[in-house]
Amino acid sequence: MTITVEQGSATVTTHFINGEWTDAESPTFAVTNPFNGEVVAEAAAGGRREAEAAVAAAAAAYPAWAALAPGERQRLFLKAADIVDRRHEELVELMAVEGGASRAFSSFQIRLSSAMLRQAAGWGYLPAGDVIRSDIPGRTATVTRKPLGVVAGFTPWNGAFYLAWRTFLLPLAFGNTTVIKPSELAPMSAGLVHAEILEEAGFPAGTFNVVTHAPGEAAAISDVFFESPAVRCINFTGSDKTARILGAQAGRALKRMVLELGGFNPVILLDDADIDESIKAVTFGAFLHQGQVCMNSRKIYVDRSIHDEFVAGLTARVKSLKIGDPRDPEVIIGPLINERAVQQIDERVQDALNRGATLETGGHSDGLIYEPTILTHVPADAICTTGADETFGPLLVIEAFDDVETAFRAAQDTPYGLSASIMTRDRSRGLDLAERFDTGIVHINAPTMASEAALPVGGVKDSGWGRSGLYAIEDFTELRLTTVSSK
Ligand code: ADP
Repeated sequence: MTITVEQGSATVTTHFINGEWTDAESPTFAVTNPFNGEVVAEAAAGGRREAEAAVAAAAAAYPAWAALAPGERQRLFLKAADIVDRRHEELVELMAVEGGASRAFSSFQIRLSSAMLRQAAGWGYLPAGDVIRSDIPGRTATVTRKPLGVVAGFTPWNGAFYLAWRTFLLPLAFGNTTVIKPSELAPMSAGLVHAEILEEAGFPAGTFNVVTHAPGEAAAISDVFFESPAVRCINFTGSDKTARILGAQAGRALKRMVLELGGFNPVILLDDADIDESIKAVTFGAFLHQGQVCMNSRKIYVDRSIHDEFVAGLTARVKSLKIGDPRDPEVIIGPLINERAVQQIDERVQDALNRGATLETGGHSDGLIYEPTILTHVPADAICTTGADETFGPLLVIEAFDDVETAFRAAQDTPYGLSASIMTRDRSRGLDLAERFDTGIVHINAPTMASEAALPVGGVKDSGWGRSGLYAIEDFTELRLTTVSSK
């Protein structure tokens, strides 16, 4: 099967279990294009039965995959990377019609994904452990890194293509097998297309499995993951709200969890910041994918001496971003994922305006398109400015400060701890603040977004646990101690 998407003649997708596109018996549900409401695919609505079959397939495939020679694994990963690059145009089209992603955002994800596959290709050759000195004469002790077993992944609809690669390939690269439950809002770009690519690359049957489900039916599948002794780790990317539900289950089942959740991602512009560079970094950081990425900047704290110039320049740039159908290569701002997302952002904008905020630009919707919106002079009690709860859309709050320490404390006053940026020409001032930020990531003179596959991205506090890139070895392997004594 090939899940290429033709507008108007919807594809029917199935699950991918044990190396086969399977299950004509499942009912289906519609996946729609958020820009125009057209049905782009009918996807299989799976449940417990399919999840059990997928876990069983991953468990059966595990011993051989864990034992595969590093060179063999490398060959497969490199092949998958080439397929991703070859399918670039088709993937751009898929992400546009299924998730409302602009060409720029899709190409960015594709580049990151093939780079990550190429890097992961070599991880099988990493040192497999250490020798530990023993106080006992005649005893040798070694620790060896072992894969965990089956890793069950939940993927989100936003940044779906890249984030699903993260979910699949990090565990696979360290010798685990996987079962993925993609978001019901984008099952193709959040998992099924990856199965196609891994299948073509020649990954053995059962090493990766994908089970899709209708809206509201996720729990039937996730319950199987928690109940199954073969599943050793839950690898979740999504909202902290869902993570709390799954975390409670993981606690009862004593399963390891890797969590990549939301963020507040503040930016602090010091008085010596390069204003043009800051405008570029903030436009990208705040409005990439319509503000629906966990690392989007939600609030900018600006030294009062440069506030007006920055706001005027940023507003002009944001107004120039083309809005519309993401299939148009010039379009930067496409639709939000659904009506609920439009409502959430609009409620928050109206709440701030009712309390006396100034609307610099935006504030209107048309269908699922919400104009990129900038608010200034936002009163401290408006929901969107507190950092207490993520506003998942194209809304940016800008606040002037007189004292950087007060601004820094405000930027830290959030349950999230994913990313932050500081814009300054003075490295040592930047580093002083950076060191004190309670986030998994802090940039000086760059957007709050991730932009390189090798960098270990992840959060602290309510933004999650675990890192991407090579450091994911900590998340997806465990140490086994072996001692040998002479008698
Ligand atoms: P997002 O809005 O970023 O997609 P969600 O947390 O809603 O974040 O979704 C992330 C993933 O979690 C998706 O695969 C979704 O289907 C899944 N999910 C959502 N709610 C539940 C639930 N109650 N049980 C299991 N999985 C869920």
